[in-house]
Amino acid sequence: MTEKTVEIQNTRATLETLYHISRELATALDLRTVLQRVLFLAMKHVGAMSGSIIVLDDRGQPVDSAIIHGVQLHEQTTHQLRVTLERGLAGWVIDNRQAAVVTDTSRDKRWVLRPDDAEDRTGPKSAVSAPLLAREKIVGVITLVHPQTGFFGMDHLELVQAIADQAGIAVLNARLYADSQRQARVMTALAETAAVINATLSLEEVFSRIMEQIEQALRVQAASLALIDQQSQKIVFKAATGWVGDEVIGTELDIGQGVAGWVVREGRGVVVPLVQNDHRFDPETDRRTGYTTRAIACAPIRLRGEVIGVLEAINPTSGVFDPDALLVLTGIGNLAGTAIRHAQLYESQQLAHRRYRELFEDSIDPIFITDLDGNILEANRRAEDTTGYSGSELARLRITDLHRQESHKLGDHLEKLKLADETITYESVLAARSGQIPIQVYTRPVDIDGVVHLQWILRDITERKNLDRLRDDLIAMVYHDLRSPLANVVSSLDVLKNMLTDVDDESSRSILKIAQRSTERIQRLTNSLLDVNRLNSGQPVQPQGPINLPELVRDAVEAVDLVLASKNQEMKISLPEELPAVVVDADMIRRVLINLLENSVKYTPSGGSIQVGARAIGDWVEVWVEDNGRGIPLSEQPNIFDKFSRVRNPDDNSQGLGLGLTFCRLAVEGHGGRIWVDSGPGKGSKFSFTLPVVRLTQPESMQSESTLPPGKA
Ligand code: ADP
Repeated sequence: MTEKTVEIQNTRATLETLYHISRELATALDLRTVLQRVLFLAMKHVGAMSGSIIVLDDRGQPVDSAIIHGVQLHEQTTHQLRVTLERGLAGWVIDNRQAAVVTDTSRDKRWVLRPDDAEDRTGPKSAVSAPLLAREKIVGVITLVHPQTGFFGMDHLELVQAIADQAGIAVLNARLYADSQRQARVMTALAETAAVINATLSLEEVFSRIMEQIEQALRVQAASLALIDQQSQKIVFKAATGWVGDEVIGTELDIGQGVAGWVVREGRGVVVPLVQNDHRFDPETDRRTGYTTRAIACAPIRLRGEVIGVLEAINPTSGVFDPDALLVLTGIGNLAGTAIRHAQLYESQQLAHRRYRELFEDSIDPIFITDLDGNILEANRRAEDTTGYSGSELARLRITDLHRQESHKLGDHLEKLKLADETITYESVLAARSGQIPIQVYTRPVDIDGVVHLQWILRDITERKNLDRLRDDLIAMVYHDLRSPLANVVSSLDVLKNMLTDVDDESSRSILKIAQRSTERIQRLTNSLLDVNRLNSGQPVQPQGPINLPELVRDAVEAVDLVLASKNQEMKISLPEELPAVVVDADMIRRVLINLLENSVKYTPSGGSIQVGARAIGDWVEVWVEDNGRGIPLSEQPNIFDKFSRVRNPDDNSQGLGLGLTFCRLAVEGHGGRIWVDSGPGKGSKFSFTLPVVRLTQPESMQSESTLPPGKA
């Protein structure tokens, strides 16, 4: 055979070897299997008697290895091989990134001599070593040994390097596979955790599920969960398992205290494989509970990036945490934040709902919730008590069945109420099972779970009504009992006045005048009280013949001249030359004017001015009393003509019953006219009313459109 032929045959053999090796390696993905195969195949093809292979991580640290002596495989030898890596042949190969042949191990410094290298044992040998390269990076080193010196030459070196190159890629693949396997395991664990802890909204249940997931995924003896209390800024344990779990719950730590405190402060997780050697560990809890913590993995619970607590996994059952323990725990921490917040929100919403329910049930007023058509959906206990209907009976009724509604305020089909942005209120009568009950209704639209409903409060006002009646009765009684003695006083004063006309005694006459004015005033008041009662109960006004208004105005002004003078107020009368006569009950209209004038004097400071005037408008005469006093707030104006209504004013010490304007309104309306006010705080007040010029018709017919008096709508 020529040299050339030998060379070709060798090359072929090498290629075949490599082909076999690459085929063998391609079928294995598990790193350990890959290592063993590489080593066996390399030894077989090179003719080595023993060999080793070491796999390094990205930082050059040995992570796995295999040694074969003859046919004996030794696993878990990484630690032994460390020396070789640091000082021996393998270390040299890695440092120089190139393969090397040692023809005599006893003469090469790169070979670290061991006891069995002695002459009387295996003696000098030859060795070949090559780096496992993948994508330019060293992922390991393979070393093969033959008991004979000089056995390995350059061609072996080349073959081993070629095998090592193949092996490098296989190791890289195995590592990628291991990574993806690990990721898949982590993802599966987290997906399961997410599904389990999000499947409940009870906070306690969420806690205990998180504990279970930690125990299962990290295979630990105990787990715990603590949250940061926003007020005290302490870390408070809310859940814990293991045999002292119950004692751990409620324990508090400062931020920075213990491993959990460190994690909160640093905002990142940590695995402490041996707590005794770690300054962060605080043995206090163990001392108190009698438990022995050996290893802890701890990760923050995060909500939208913010640390709200911590998770702890304690004492792995195998003794050590898996490399991905922290990854899994951190993932659970991220999931836990959202699940806990959801449960907390749900619980606080439940609490709010319960509170609302209690308020609803315990309200002293009957409350109903209806749909937009008025069908009763809910009614509180008080509603059942007051109406005398059970909840299920009420659920078959409409709110319209229970009381008469004010359609001008609510709309014929509640359409005004649906759009109302504030409470609408009116008086009505409740048709209770036991009879009729006077009520004040307060109703408004309310949003319940995103749907508009109507809320009705039907307040029982029986007591208020009784009081009103009592007051009316009292007024009527006062009037009747006062009337006849008063009439006696008036006629006696008249007699006295006649007797005094001949006497030239100014002071007696002035005293008499005061007495007469005062009695007139009492008479006016009692008459007005009686009128209020009479007009209120629908009795018609009895107008006398046409009267001269200017005279009536001057009369009224004269009646208040004493008080006017005492307050140093100016009075202006502005009457046109011509004014048609009106057909009215003169005494009643005089009292209306005096009332308005007295109010103006009362509510205008000393030195102020008051104006009274009249003008004709079509078939009506408009009369007004204007002052520059304190005025009336807009919000009070709609009420001042109501019975017993007085404007609330903190610095008001003026006396009054709040009946004067009620009388004025009833009297003017009794004549078919209108009364209104133009005023504002500090702007003075102008009270105006209208009286009919034409023949007086019945008040009912006066309400018809064609004869409506002018005035403020
Ligand atoms: P009172 O007996 O309280 O005067 P009225 O029915 O006459 O009762 O008046 C009702 C309320 O209207 C009064 O309490 C007062 O606050 C207000 N009021 C009436 N007239 C005037 C006015 N000219 N200026 C300011 N406020 C007035």
